[in-house]
Amino acid sequence: MDMLNDPAFTAFRDEVRTFLAAHLPDDIQRGAARATSVFVDPAITLPWQRILHAKGWAAPDWPAEFGGPGWNEIERYIFAAECARAGAPNLAPMGLKMVAPVIMHYGSPEQRAHYLPRILSGEDYWCQGFSEPGAGSDLAALQLRAVPDGADYVLNGSKIWTTHAHFANRMFALVRTSNEGKPQAGISFLLLDMDAPGITVEPIRTLAGDHEFNQVFFDDVRVPQANRLGRENEGWSVAKHLLTFERGGKYAPGLIGRLERLRKQTEIDAVLRAQVDREAINLQALQALELKAMRGVGGSSALYASALKILGTETAQRIDALACEIAGHPAWADADGQAPDELAVVVPRYLNDRAASIYAGSNEIQRDLIARLLLG
Ligand SMILES: Cc1cc2nc3c(=O)[nH]c(=O)nc-3n(C[C@H](O)[C@H](O)[C@H](O)COP(=O)(O)OP(=O)(O)OC[C@H]3O[C@@H](n4cnc5c(N)ncnc54)[C@H](O)[C@@H]3O)c2cc1C
Repeated sequence: MDMLNDPAFTAFRDEVRTFLAAHLPDDIQRGAARATSVFVDPAITLPWQRILHAKGWAAPDWPAEFGGPGWNEIERYIFAAECARAGAPNLAPMGLKMVAPVIMHYGSPEQRAHYLPRILSGEDYWCQGFSEPGAGSDLAALQLRAVPDGADYVLNGSKIWTTHAHFANRMFALVRTSNEGKPQAGISFLLLDMDAPGITVEPIRTLAGDHEFNQVFFDDVRVPQANRLGRENEGWSVAKHLLTFERGGKYAPGLIGRLERLRKQTEIDAVLRAQVDREAINLQALQALELKAMRGVGGSSALYASALKILGTETAQRIDALACEIAGHPAWADADGQAPDELAVVVPRYLNDRAASIYAGSNEIQRDLIARLLLG
């Protein structure tokens, strides 16, 4: 962790801090503080993405050849920490952090040239079509059928729990192109337009009352075969690669930023302060692991990705519970219920974050993957 405090990075940290102080608008910061989910509404994230894009900083993890700033891994981590400290919203991960690295890795030159600039600018907003009503933890059981017809595939079936499908103009999807052999061997990875005829998006409300995810129905939807990423029936490898980006990465910077804002509200109670300190120590350990795990364009090995997913999401859930305790302290009643912004949304955030140990593959499944990777 001394790496982060190396004087070689002082000028870089100052540059980022100065930029954030000058360019992060109050309304965006306030929108982020009141967000109840890690998937912040695009009305808040897209204007911020445009500001970062104008500076060349929208995709810190991308290599310079695709429009990234060309930072090393420590600089990227410092940038994430400074954004969290300033209270900037998390940008939507589905395009920038999930599908972009697999387009870089598996995409044709034409696919890279078409999609990557539009992801960077925010012109394209992506959703992830992996889960189905009969395929969650057992993802290889997916049945959405893609049948070749001329230059197209014709898709029939449905995807579920599709976060922000109601905002997205693009989806990356796993589809079944063969029933021969192992279930994993008959899956292909498609990039498709959400306005294609035959796609219907139906909302699903979360426990916290948000409209965040959806069920998406496909009724004879035509998708050009040229929109396939990688070879036919080899989509499982693309998906596994993508999942290391979805699960791994940087949980600690955002959580440290949140905990420090909560700390300011614990003057009222020594026991709460001690609980904040304990989580701060846990976060130092998580940060050390994240720094050790960093590799390539924001990814980490499958083993680290699963470990970070468990530790990051379970720490977030403990901090949510602590935030509820802080918000419920009698001292706030004396203040005429004038609790600060950070405490206004603790209950919906607590409820929303219950999902964190389910999405991106449940934490039980991550523990199983770790056991298999370590024990064989
Ligand atoms: C908020 C949220 C957003 C999501 N967004 C998306 C999205 O954008 N795109 C997308 O494709 N999907 C999305 N998902 C779906 C998510 O990936 C699945 O919910 C997850 O993989 C679990 O699948 P399932 O819900 O079908 O549960 P199931 O697979 O039915 O599992 C139910 C329970 O059984 C346990 N279990 C199952 N199998 C095993 C096993 N072998 N060993 C031990 N325990 C097991 C699970 O851990 C879980 O507790 C989202 C989910 C949530 C909650």
